[in-house]
Amino acid sequence: MAKITLDNLAHSYLPNPKGEDDFALKELNHDWADGEAYALLGSSGCGKSTLLNIISGLLHPSQGRILFDGVDVTQASTADRNIAQVFQFPVVYDTMTVRDNLAFPLKNRGASPHYIADRVQQIAKMIGMEAELGNRARGLTADAKQKISLGRGMVREDVNALLFDEPLTVIDPHMKWELRTQLKSLHHEFGHTMIYVTHDQTEALTFADKVVVMYDGRVVQIGTPEELFDKPQHTFVGYFIGSPGMNVIPASVAGSDAVVHGAAVKLGQSFGPLDGKVEIGVRPEFVTLTDGEGVPVKVRRVEDVGRHKIIRADLFGNEINIVAGEGQSISPDMNRVTFDPKRVNVYVNDWLKEGEAAQ
Ligand code: ADP
Ligand code: MG
Repeated sequence: MAKITLDNLAHSYLPNPKGEDDFALKELNHDWADGEAYALLGSSGCGKSTLLNIISGLLHPSQGRILFDGVDVTQASTADRNIAQVFQFPVVYDTMTVRDNLAFPLKNRGASPHYIADRVQQIAKMIGMEAELGNRARGLTADAKQKISLGRGMVREDVNALLFDEPLTVIDPHMKWELRTQLKSLHHEFGHTMIYVTHDQTEALTFADKVVVMYDGRVVQIGTPEELFDKPQHTFVGYFIGSPGMNVIPASVAGSDAVVHGAAVKLGQSFGPLDGKVEIGVRPEFVTLTDGEGVPVKVRRVEDVGRHKIIRADLFGNEINIVAGEGQSISPDMNRVTFDPKRVNVYVNDWLKEGEAAQ
């Protein structure tokens, strides 16, 4: 296993990139700690596969270097990097049995037959395919084939890193949960450096120690699930993580007060003069609907989602979401909202602005 360093890395698929817009991956410097489980999270097209393929060596970056434990591997092949990668769609040898498919990476590296037999059995159990070991892969369903691909990715214990690129897309929902749990326990057991690409926040947040959020070719935040929830560094992280996501509302800010369409909002921090597009961000969990003081809203809809209610309201043309307790009654005269001051973040041009502790 290895620490992976990305040094000034960037990638454009164009031969002569002109500006930043021509880069599918904008310049990036980052260390992936040895033995940690990361999720790479972002919407389709934001550059996740590009980054993963650069780490594995399938793609050579147009700029910068990749180091494994301090050794430059930028020009090294995937095989030399000693990495296992699992893709979105199954890659299996149809004419081989399930057993031979799973054994393939071990045979390739000259493992002993005894070890191979044991290890294949162990992996078959993990992916729930012990009964099918003797069957040929041809004729199996797509999700069975994908389980073989996953098994093949996990079979070697001596890899530098395990990379997964949306590997559960074709797997049915129940098995998805089970395989994700298996991957997690595999990580606990062997301590591989793992990078798991997904566009699904639940998958990312349940799998990883650290989540790397990408937006438009850029890594916008790397943090624990708690950090992404409490302090989104970019408004995109706020929207993308959480259900519903963070409310982002245009405001003006002076000292420890914000003004939203003429209504005052207290902040937990104090700010100097701010230049640019200023917004406040507050998660629906920290908004309270009241019939007292606060910012005027019009309630549009109340959704009962079991453990709590989600209130959809209009705040001077901005949709705002409020999470309320299951037992809370909502009456027609509740037409104001208040925010928990300590939970209100301030954004300038979409990036989080840290202030001073308010008096
Ligand atoms: P993701 O995996 O997050 O969906 P990708 O890394 O596949 O995103 O793609 C990032 C951007 O690079 C997209 O705009 C995509 O169209 C572009 N892209 C991906 N692969 C290629 C390629 N082989 N040639 C040209 N453009 C590509
Ligand atoms: Mg992709």
